[in-house]
Amino acid sequence: MQMKDTEFRIGTFHGRHDGAPVKVTSVRDDTRPDPYFWLCSCGATRSFPTEDGVFPSAWRHTHPTRLDRLRQWATRLLPTRRAR
Ligand SMILES: [Zn+2]
Repeated sequence: MQMKDTEFRIGTFHGRHDGAPVKVTSVRDDTRPDPYFWLCSCGATRSFPTEDGVFPSAWRHTHPTRLDRLRQWATRLLPTRRAR
């Protein structure tokens, strides 16, 4: 990923979700309202006001628990059921 002059890479996470390997890059940029954020190679991004939430959230995103997978599966399934 391309880094701007104001951005500092503070961590990289490798993992997989939805059956594909992914990479999350966590970044600090003091010019943003929420200076800490991460970007996933799947396109997902989240920002935080402090550094505290960045790493747990990035780790969780690259290493979904069985419960997370179940929730994603249920989310995909429910709209189909409602349509019937
Ligand atoms: Zn992702």
